[in-house]
Amino acid sequence: MDCIFCKIIAGEIPSAKVYEDDKILAFKDINPMAPVHVLVIPKEHIPSCDGINSENSSYVAHIFENIPAIAKAAGCTNGYRVITNCGEDAKQSVKHLHFHILGGKSLPENMG
Ligand code: AMP
Ligand code: ZN
Repeated sequence: MDCIFCKIIAGEIPSAKVYEDDKILAFKDINPMAPVHVLVIPKEHIPSCDGINSENSSYVAHIFENIPAIAKAAGCTNGYRVITNCGEDAKQSVKHLHFHILGGKSLPENMG
C-alpha cells in the first residue's frame, strides 16, 4: 500500500519519533505549525475519522490515553490543541488517521 505513514511505521521512511508502543507511534511533523507539532498515528491503517469503527476504536482510545504524556514530554507545559483533518473540506493530505498535537505557544483562537 502506498501510504507514507505506513512506511514510517515500517521504518522504510525516517521520522523523528517521540513515542512508540505496540499500537501507536508519535513523531514530529515535518512542517511544524507551532513550536510543538507532533503527529500521533495508529499502527493499523485507518484512512481517516470516517474509518473508525467498533473493530479498531481501541487504537483511538489508546491514542487519547497517551496524548497527555506525549504532549507534556514534547514540551507542552501550558496546554495544547488536538486536531484531526477528515476529508476534502478539512484538507486532509495524508490518508492515514493522524492526530496533530500543537502547542508550545499561545495558539490562535480561530479554528477556521
Ligand atoms: P493533514 O493535512 O492533516 O493530512 O496532515 C498531514 C501532516 O503530515 C502535515 O502536517 C505534514 O506536514 C505531515 N507530514 C507529511 N509527511 C511527513 C513525514 N514524512 N514526516 C512527518 N510529517 C509528515
Ligand atoms: Zn497507512
